[in-house]
Amino acid sequence: MSKILVVEDEKNILELVRFNLEREGYEVISTTDGACGLEMVREELPDLIILDVMLPGMNGLEVCRELQQDSATRFIPVIILSARAEELDRVLGLEMGADDYIVKPFSPRELVARVKARLRRSVLIEIRDEEKLAGRVLEIGRLVIDEEKYAVYLSGVKQDLTQKEFELLCYLARRRGKVFTREQLLAQVWGYDNPVDSRTVDVHIRHIRQKLEPEPGVCELIETVRGVGYRFKEDT
Ligand code: CA
Repeated sequence: MSKILVVEDEKNILELVRFNLEREGYEVISTTDGACGLEMVREELPDLIILDVMLPGMNGLEVCRELQQDSATRFIPVIILSARAEELDRVLGLEMGADDYIVKPFSPRELVARVKARLRRSVLIEIRDEEKLAGRVLEIGRLVIDEEKYAVYLSGVKQDLTQKEFELLCYLARRRGKVFTREQLLAQVWGYDNPVDSRTVDVHIRHIRQKLEPEPGVCELIETVRGVGYRFKEDT
């Protein structure tokens, strides 16, 4: 049974979420305070977090950022709850490592569907499945990707990638030579069926390049395919 942490200060929304998730058989733990939510994540290590943006103590985006910086919590999927007026927060949340967002008001059915989809797509599960098909350590030239340890090495030196950068790199590296559009990458790596902003992909690719391609302008790993998208070079 999956354990879900809900961090929401509006009691009626919290109860609505709790009721619907419990009815689906999930174990629900909750808090109305951001800082307390962060503490609970670290203590309880839930399988998924539903996080409101506007919270007392510490706002949802700050919580997201903190989770992202901790190797014990960075791979826990986060679904952001956001009011319509907080559109900027949604984009920021995704940049800070959230996996999905739901706009208030939302239907309980939509929420449950998103939670199910997110748990199904959980990176950990996906990578475990892929490990059955392939080796756990991917060696490409000077680059070594250890999926079990979520570590990337360049010429033997460990590189510090964020969760999404790591997932994007793995996804492309496992499918070397194949071109993907930004929309495909958003769907596969972020799990979006309706992509909001494909520039998110560009930002992440740029960060990966900065970290793994030390010579500016010299493409070593990920090629931009003009008018289409990106591809991991076949012969590195
Ligand atoms: Ca709130």
